Amino acid sequence: NLVPIGRALISVSDKSGLLDLARALAAQGVELISTGGTSGMLRAAGLKVRDVSDVTGFPEMMDGRVKTLHPAIHGALLALRDDDEHLLAMAAHGIEPIDLLIVNLYPFEATVAMGADHATCIENIDIGGPAMIRAAAKNHRSVAVVTDPADYQPLLDQMAAHNGATTMAFRQKLALNAYARTAAYDAAVSGWLAQEINCPFPRHRAFGGHIAQKLRYGENPHQAAAFYTDGTRREGVATARQWQGKELSYNNINDTDAAFELVAEFDPGTPACAIIKHANPCGVATGGSLTDAYLRAYDCDRTSAFGGIVALNRALDAATAEEIVKIFTEVVIAPGASDEARAIFAAKKNLRLLTTNALPDPRARGLSFRQVSGGFLVQDRDAASVTEADLKVVTKRAPTARETADLLFAWSVAKHVKSNAIVYVKDGATVGVGAGQMSRVDSTRIAARKSQDMAEALGLPGPLTLGSVVASDAFFPFADGLLAAAEAGATAIIQPGGSMRDDEVIAAADAAGLAMVFTGQRHFRH
Ligand code: 5GP
Repeated sequence: NLVPIGRALISVSDKSGLLDLARALAAQGVELISTGGTSGMLRAAGLKVRDVSDVTGFPEMMDGRVKTLHPAIHGALLALRDDDEHLLAMAAHGIEPIDLLIVNLYPFEATVAMGADHATCIENIDIGGPAMIRAAAKNHRSVAVVTDPADYQPLLDQMAAHNGATTMAFRQKLALNAYARTAAYDAAVSGWLAQEINCPFPRHRAFGGHIAQKLRYGENPHQAAAFYTDGTRREGVATARQWQGKELSYNNINDTDAAFELVAEFDPGTPACAIIKHANPCGVATGGSLTDAYLRAYDCDRTSAFGGIVALNRALDAATAEEIVKIFTEVVIAPGASDEARAIFAAKKNLRLLTTNALPDPRARGLSFRQVSGGFLVQDRDAASVTEADLKVVTKRAPTARETADLLFAWSVAKHVKSNAIVYVKDGATVGVGAGQMSRVDSTRIAARKSQDMAEALGLPGPLTLGSVVASDAFFPFADGLLAAAEAGATAIIQPGGSMRDDEVIAAADAAGLAMVFTGQRHFRH
């Protein structure tokens, strides 16, 4: 199963590592064939290389749309080396076998992510590259195909270990990667086109990704896991740079994403902080400064914040870093960090610091997925939001300006809390979060009880929910949940409305002197 490499075709858009590889191949006597740009670079470096146009007898044409699409190339990649008929055909048409294909594709994903226009994106759909990759991968019994510069060194190591040849096991793995690469590539093209023509749910849907990180394990230590990125975003957790700390875990990445998406809801004009545990917020606050926002978020539920994930909507500064290092925190993510802040974190070896160039855009279009047995559910990501103008006052009393500001804040947070979600807010900070309960009234009571515990821990009289407002991610089916919130001291409520018993719920609110607004929109999150 050892196949010695005599001839290689190299055609790459990403030319990193190219020269070192080509020099090493040439040194072992491998004949090099290349397309225009690649051969230009090799020749400039003094390497001997044959042009594809010389092999095919056709010039590269139509702006490079047609370069390698020719039987002299595809026959050389596809011919079975031990089949008499194939050998005869090669001889009859002067086709010389190619044993190694090095191709990486036009940067379609990066072109889309850059926001290029339609025509530029179309021109960056590689045709000949994927055709060659698929041909060589099909014929991996005889041909090695490399689609990623990360595989250049392993290839050279293989050849060094096997006297210039590759093993079947190695070629199989390369072929597997090759098909995954062309599938992911076509998925990116198809996904882009679905957006361009506004057809989000076509008959077939394909998704692809590139491994960003092998993870030590998944949600639990007995589950293997990896992190794949799809190259479609320029902000968000997938683009983050990690400055320090242990390797991110599966749960870290999931929670960090939840934290960053939540904090991005708040206008960066006002500092904001979200602390997340198990994908739910245990404290979210705005503040006069970032430090103030962090401390106010921390005060919502200090117990749960221990070992949490902190997301900020502004670059981490030194004063906030000083506060954060006082307790154990798993991850901090922010759109930047000052040198002083990084120096403060450096003393905490395990604390992971991630920065991005920008905050995620909560209004951006996109899709979200959920896997079920035998398939997956796809939906638009929840990019909805409400403004004051969308609120419908349904009680005799309208909320005050202060209550309205807090209601909108609570609503933004509730969107990021697992259902049934109940969020109490006072003065731009959560004071109680009830998440993931099967009954809404339980969420309401749990949040209030935790708020009571927190008040006791802080040595404050009464629960923190006293004089707060409350958001419910979906309507109250009965008045009981609303009454529980009133009992906890809430004075105003925001909820979608739309229950069969809205009248009953509104009457109960009026009787309790509460102000209530309907959004007409709900935020289930399961
Ligand atoms: P170069 O920089 O060498 O001129 O071009 C390299 C790129 O061309 C590679 O990304 C390769 O996948 C792509 N390519 C090779 N053959 C063809 C072809 O026949 N048509 C198209 N559209 N792209 C090709």
